[in-house]
This record gives sequence, structure tokens and C-alpha cells, in this order.
Amino acid sequence: MGGRGRPLPMEDLDDDAFETSKDVTAVKSFDSMGLKHDLLRGVYNYGFEKPSAIQQRAVQPIITRRDVIAQAQSGTGKTSMISLTMLQLLDTSLRECQALILSPTRELAAQTEKTISAIGNSMKVIAHCCIGGKSLGEDIRQCERGVHVVSGTPGRVFDMIKRRSLRTRSIRTLVLDEADEMLAKGFKEQIYEVYRYLPPDTQVVVVSATMPNDILEMTKKFMTDPIRVLVKRDELTLEGIKQFFVAVEREEWKFDTLTDLYDTLTITQAVIFVNTKKKADWLTDRLRQSNFTVASMHGDMPQKERDAIMADFRAGGSRVLITTDVWARGLDVQQVSLVINYDLPNNRELYIHRIGRSGRYGRKGVAINFVREDDVRVLRDIEQYYSTQIDEMPMNVADLI
Ligand code: ADP
Ligand code: MG
Repeated sequence: MGGRGRPLPMEDLDDDAFETSKDVTAVKSFDSMGLKHDLLRGVYNYGFEKPSAIQQRAVQPIITRRDVIAQAQSGTGKTSMISLTMLQLLDTSLRECQALILSPTRELAAQTEKTISAIGNSMKVIAHCCIGGKSLGEDIRQCERGVHVVSGTPGRVFDMIKRRSLRTRSIRTLVLDEADEMLAKGFKEQIYEVYRYLPPDTQVVVVSATMPNDILEMTKKFMTDPIRVLVKRDELTLEGIKQFFVAVEREEWKFDTLTDLYDTLTITQAVIFVNTKKKADWLTDRLRQSNFTVASMHGDMPQKERDAIMADFRAGGSRVLITTDVWARGLDVQQVSLVINYDLPNNRELYIHRIGRSGRYGRKGVAINFVREDDVRVLRDIEQYYSTQIDEMPMNVADLI
């Protein structure tokens, strides 16, 4: 086939790539969205020129206060869309919390708060990041002083609500980013607890790259006549991300395979996923003993350390990050062009999220899966489920980065 294949989802994706409510049309420019003047300026200053496919379709329903289910490929501007639509909905003359955004990890909640503050730079918006691992006293003070929008993790947010430090009476919108994770075992109860404190007519927006059917079903319980913008499953993997496997046969062979790839890892920035915190520590130690420079981050580290590692990685100070699924969803570091699944993820959704740490907003990306003999079936299943192709890693993989 000639040409360049199907268009990237940052561009003008055909409507038939989506399963979308009937009355949704694509609005092709930020200018035509009816955004507030300061916000429009903020969006352009932030570097956005044209809305992505999902932004073209989901911004309008969100800013007209409909309940919305928005699903699109990773890195195509969903979380940014949350930031910009909340800015549109806030009334900054009212110093009360009007929108609540919940995310599954502290780093993602912090990233979203930063995006809101950056895009809303000239809008006098008070955005607050409300997450565990930070000083409780400071959080209480901030909330009580008055904020317009809170981006947080469910535990700390619920704590603030129970203490009445965060008042909910003016909240009009609840957003769940990475919604399928937020509604899965572990988080679901916390989300419902928060939800019970919100005014009855609160708008609900749920967003994710993956939206399994049981989760979609569950949204009926707390969403009213939602507008749905959903990408089809076979459109979910991104063309910009090349996927490969390396047959390592046995676990013991993974380490040498990784060190052989080290020069490739450091071409730009790379994220290496393992399945447990213990293994992250083990792999980090072993690589350092062999004189490789790597950073490492997981959920058992003190928040201060997590913050420092994130800041350094974002600034490009470290190039190779060993981590767990705490990093699988939402985090946006544009320089990441390589993802390695040292361990295959435990489910199909995580696969999409992990490889989506590379190839942000149409950039090139490469994902390499280390596959033991007993993993082959899992990989084939992923391939089939997403109608995608995962080839054996070529010798010249470095050229693709
Ligand atoms: P998602 O939540 O879908 O994974 P993000 O909102 O994190 O995607 O955005 C991915 C990257 O694309 C970010 O670096 C963001 O700044 C950038 N981005 C988002 N929307 C646009 C746009 N309309 N134009 C240019 N870049 C964008
Ligand atoms: Mg996101």
C-alpha cells in the first residue's frame, strides 16, 4: 500500500473510528469552541494549535455540562482536555471548589493540576493538588483558604471532605481520569464514598484509553444519559508505536537481554516495567552493580523521593527509569520513546497504557516485550484482542527510535 496509512488520532480521524452518540459532531478548531478569551489564549500559549480527534468531539458536550464518557488512544490529549474544559466551566469570581478531578496516582493528579495552572495562567484560577504523602496540615490550610478546582487521589480527597476542609456544596463536575482503573476493585468504594458527598445534579465525566464493557455497564449507576465518544478496539493501538518481542525463553536471560539494549535505551528516554516493587528494587540494584545508570520509582518510596525522581526524569536528568504499574497510566513525558516490558503486564488494558508512555501525541515510539516461553500465549492474546502486530525485534531497532 502506498501513502501513509490511516490518519493519526491527533489529526482528522474519520467518525467511523469512533462509536459515538448520534448528536456529536467534530469541532475542528479551538476558535470555534466558544471558549473564554483568556482560556483560548492560554491554550495557544501552551502550544496547542488544533484540537485532537477526541478533543474535537468531547469538549463541546463537557462544556455544555453533559455527562460524558470519553475514550481515545493514549497520548491523544484526553487529560489535557480535562484541564481545558474545567477551566471553561469554572467561575473564578466564586471562591469555592466547583470541579473535582480524581486520578489513580499522585503523580498523575499532580501533573493534571500543573496543566490546569499552566493553561489557566492568566485566568486567576486556584487549582489545588490534593494527594497522599504530602503534609495534611498544608492541605487543610489550602482547601480552607478556598480553591476553584481540586485534582487529587481518592483517599486524600475523601479525607479532606470528611474533615469539611474541602466543601462540596458548589461542586458541579466530577471527573474520573483513568476511569476504568478508578472504578475497578480497590478504588471503586472510595469513589462512591466521595460521590455520596456531591450535590445530586453533579455532572460526571469519565475518561480513559481503555473502557472494558463491565466498566461501561457500571457507569449507568451514576451517569445520566451520557454522551459517549468511544474508539473502536482495533483503532486503539497507535500506528506511531512499533511493537516488538524478544524471545528470552527463561527469566534468567532477561537481564542480559536488557543490558545488551542499554545503548538503545539511552537514545532518548526509556521506561522499563516490572510487575512488583521488589523486582524493581532488585533490577535497579543489579543494573547499578553492573555500572549502568538507572533511576527507579515505585509506590513504596517516600513521596519526597518519588517527586525528586519524577522531576529529574521529566527534566531529562535520568534517561532510564525502572518502575511498576504506578507509571502505567497517564504520565506524560514527551521524550520517552521506548518502553520495555521486562515483565508482561497482568492484563490487556495495562498493556495499552504501558506502551502508551511512549509515542505521545503522534511522536514515534517503540515497545519491546520480553517474552518467556510461557508468556507467548499472553502476547498472542494481546495481539489478537487489539488486532495489532507484534513482530520479533529487528537488529536495527535503534534506528526506529
Ligand atoms: P492522554 O491523556 O490522552 O494520554 P495527554 O492529555 O496527556 O493525553 O496529552 C498527551 C500530550 O499531548 C501532552 O504532552 C499534551 O501536552 C499534548 N497535547 C494534548 N492536546 C494537544 C493538542 N491539541 N495539540 C498539541 N499537543 C497536545
Ligand atoms: Mg491521560
